[in-house]
Amino acid sequence: MEKLKSLRPVIVFHLLLNSIVIIFITGASYYHTPLEGIKDTAIYIIHLLLLQTTVAGLLYFLSLNKWVFHIVFSVLFLMYCGFSFWAYTQDISITMPLIQSILETKPDIAIDLISIPYILFFVVAIFALLFILKRQRSIQPTKGFLIFVIPALLAVFLFIALEKIRPGSLINRLPYSAVIGFRQYYEKPTLQLNKEIPALTFNKDSIKLVFVLGETVREDHLGINGYKRNTTPLLASKTNLISFKNLYTNNTYTGASVPQILTDELLEQKKESYTSIYSVVNKAKFKTTWIGNQTLEKSFAPIVYTNSEVILVDKYKSDFSFNKELDEAMLLPLDDVLKLSPRQFTTLHMMGSHWWYENRYTEDYSKFKPIIDSKYIPSLSSEQIINSYDNTILYLDYFLSEIINRLEKEEEPSLLFYVSDHGEHLGENGKWLHAQAGEEAKNPAYIIWFSEKYKEKYPKRVSKITKLKNNKLTTDVIYFTILELLDIKIN
Ligand SMILES: [Zn+2]
Repeated sequence: MEKLKSLRPVIVFHLLLNSIVIIFITGASYYHTPLEGIKDTAIYIIHLLLLQTTVAGLLYFLSLNKWVFHIVFSVLFLMYCGFSFWAYTQDISITMPLIQSILETKPDIAIDLISIPYILFFVVAIFALLFILKRQRSIQPTKGFLIFVIPALLAVFLFIALEKIRPGSLINRLPYSAVIGFRQYYEKPTLQLNKEIPALTFNKDSIKLVFVLGETVREDHLGINGYKRNTTPLLASKTNLISFKNLYTNNTYTGASVPQILTDELLEQKKESYTSIYSVVNKAKFKTTWIGNQTLEKSFAPIVYTNSEVILVDKYKSDFSFNKELDEAMLLPLDDVLKLSPRQFTTLHMMGSHWWYENRYTEDYSKFKPIIDSKYIPSLSSEQIINSYDNTILYLDYFLSEIINRLEKEEEPSLLFYVSDHGEHLGENGKWLHAQAGEEAKNPAYIIWFSEKYKEKYPKRVSKITKLKNNKLTTDVIYFTILELLDIKIN
C-alpha cells in the first residue's frame, strides 16, 4: 500500500499526460464520426481508449528521461496540434497528400492558412504543454520502472495486435496516420513506369473521351443490368449505351485496382514495369486531364501525373473524412477542360459509392429509406445499408447522365467510358464493404456510351464492342479497349 502511494505522482502524471493528448491530438480523429445512440458512442469511446492505450505505452518510454521528454514530446505535441486543428475544424485527413502539400508548399501560401482560431488553439495547447512539462519536473519519472515497464510494453504490443485483427483501424487515425503519411511521402514509388513509349500508329481525328473511374459500384445494383430497383432511370433513357455485366477483377481495393486499370498490367501476369495509358494517349497527340475527387494514393499517383494536367477537387479529404465534397464538384472543371482541345482525354476519379455512403449523395437522391444513421455497422440493419448504397447508385446515374448531356452537345465525336475499380459486399456471408476475400467485390460496373457522331463515323468499332456485351471479361481489357476506341495501335 505504502509502495503504491509512492507511485501515485507517476500514475497521476500519466493520466494527465494522456488526457491532454486525447484532447489535443487523438480525439480529433473521432470527432466527426457520425454515431447514433449511446451504444455506438460507447463503442467508439472504447476504440479511442484502446488507441490511446497504445500511445500511452510510447509516452511512458518517452517520459523516462527529462531532457528527452522536454525536447521530443514538445516538438511532436506542437506539430501534431498543427494537424489536429485541421482534423477538428475541417475533418481533414492527415495522410500523404497533406504531408506533401505541407512539405512542398511555399511559405507565403502556408501563412495564409493561419487564422485567429488557429493561433488561439495553439496558445491553449502551449499552456497545456507547459503544465505537463512542469508536472514532469516535479516527479521521479523512473520510479516504479520495474512495475510500469511490463504494462507499457503490452500497450505498445496492443497496437500490433489490434492492427492485425482489424488492419487500418489505428493507422488511419492520429497520431499514426501522420507517421504513415510521412513514410509514404519519402518512400520510393512502388510502381515502375516505362518512360520509353513504343511506336504508335494513330490518326489525328477529333475525339473527346471522358473516362470516369468509378468507386465501389457493383454491376448487379444497376437498374439497367436488371436490378429489381430502378437505380438508373436516367441512363436507361440514353441511346447508344452499353452496360457490360460480366467484368471481373481480383483486385478488391482502390490501391491495387486503379494501377491495373490505368496501365498495361494484366491480372495474372506481373511485370517489372508498366506503361501508363496516359503516356500512350499523350504520344498520340491527345491532351490528357485528370480531375479527381479522391486523394492520390502512392500506388497510382505516378500514373496520375503522366496526365498533361492534374486537377484535384477537395484534395485533403480522404474517404476517412465525413464532410467530403460530392462528385458533382468535378463537373465545373470538366466544363472548362472539354474546351481545351479537339483531341481531349479527360479522367474523372469519383468517390462514387465508397463507405460512408451518406456522404456521397444529396437529399434529392435519398429515395430508398430508411438510410444509415451511424458509422458503426453492427448497429445498422441490412435494409438501411443497402438503401443508402442504392441511393449512391441513383446519384451515379445522375452524375453520368450529366456528363453524357454535355458530350451530346460537343461538335466532335465523343465517348463516355465508365468503369468502377471494384464492387462491394452487401451482407453476403455476413460481410460488408470491400478489401476482403469474397466474390461480391469482384464484379465492378462497366458502361460505354457513344455519341451519335462517334457511331456514324466509326460504326465498325461500335459494333465490335457491342458484340462483347455479354462476354466474360476481365479488367485487363480496359487499357486495350480505350486505345482501340481512340484508334491508337501499338506497333
Ligand atoms: Zn476503390
